[in-house]
Amino acid sequence: MKVPFLDLRAAHSEIESRLGEAFRRTLRSGWYILGEEVERFEREFAAYCGAKHCVGVGNGLEALHLILRAYGVGPGDEVIVPSNTYIATWLAVSQCGARPVPVEPDERTYNIDPQRIAAAITPRTRALIAVHLYGQAADMHPIAEVAARHGIKLVEDAAQAHGARYFGRRAGALADAAGFSFYPGKNLGALGDAGAVTTDDGALAGRVRVLRNYGSQKKYQNEVKGYNSRLDELQAALLREKLALLDAWNERRRALSRRYLAGLSGLPLVLPHVPPDNEPAWHLFVVRSPQRDALAARLDAMGIGTLVHYPVPPHLQPAYAELGLGPGSFPLSEAIHREVLSLPLWPQMTDAQADYVIAGLHGALQ
Ligand SMILES: *Cc1c(COP(=O)(O)O)cnc(C)c1O
Repeated sequence: MKVPFLDLRAAHSEIESRLGEAFRRTLRSGWYILGEEVERFEREFAAYCGAKHCVGVGNGLEALHLILRAYGVGPGDEVIVPSNTYIATWLAVSQCGARPVPVEPDERTYNIDPQRIAAAITPRTRALIAVHLYGQAADMHPIAEVAARHGIKLVEDAAQAHGARYFGRRAGALADAAGFSFYPGKNLGALGDAGAVTTDDGALAGRVRVLRNYGSQKKYQNEVKGYNSRLDELQAALLREKLALLDAWNERRRALSRRYLAGLSGLPLVLPHVPPDNEPAWHLFVVRSPQRDALAARLDAMGIGTLVHYPVPPHLQPAYAELGLGPGSFPLSEAIHREVLSLPLWPQMTDAQADYVIAGLHGALQ
């Protein structure tokens, strides 16, 4: 048996005729940028998240970058980010000329630790980006309290959390604004790059709309120096077809995760911890072990694909050498990066494939 880490062909062959129809519909419309498909997707995705507005943009990094720009974040400002995240969260801050200020995670959930945020706030802090890592919402109630107390904007990096719930509310409607990625491997993925901003703040949505399209509301009238960061009509049409299946596919991820949790309990592995009132989207199923690399090699030899999310934290990347944050500056995050391993998890994976992964881990850890 083989269990690839992810097989997008399996998802797309299941719905090939619907995707083909979306392609032909767009082809025949004769209109490829900022048209009806984008407008419809924006309405449908806002409704799905329970947010008032959605603005389609080029990718997830741009979604976060444009939110911060629209809030006026710029040089000299600071934005709080998790030390334990994908580097895109930090890059969105840097692209505004602002400084990312990392805060360590809660070791059980891997998400930013609400207790540690206040100590990182200075008079220059303008915003905080909470990441719903691996598809599980950060602890937004205490985080929102700190943000409100200090008068800073709260932004969700929901790139891994399409459909996740926190106290019944969906990711994308848990803060002032949220950035989503529709990179192909995400729970809701395009067939290329795509992203979106969701928010209840009409003024913010309006500013992001202008910024994504050259700073222009009316053709050839440029109010501000904007960007070209639009969601394509074609990607929007494909995303609409896949959005209709997101809940069913997330449900299948949940069932497979339950199977993993039951099958792996008792092994010397740290399993995902789900706090009450949290319903993850199960973008990734991540286990933790001091023998991570040996485990990955054993599974690989059995035809089981795994990945590490992520091997090197942003503060230790050469790209952030300027911050002078050497090894040991964020020990919790560094330990997590040394020990995490993501198991295969995708909606079309079979129970037998999950059982093969479980058996593989039992064999390796005996
Ligand atoms: C994927 C991802 C992004 C970036 O999304 P892109 O569409 O690839 O630009 C940002 N943050 C997190 C946590 C991600 O996983």
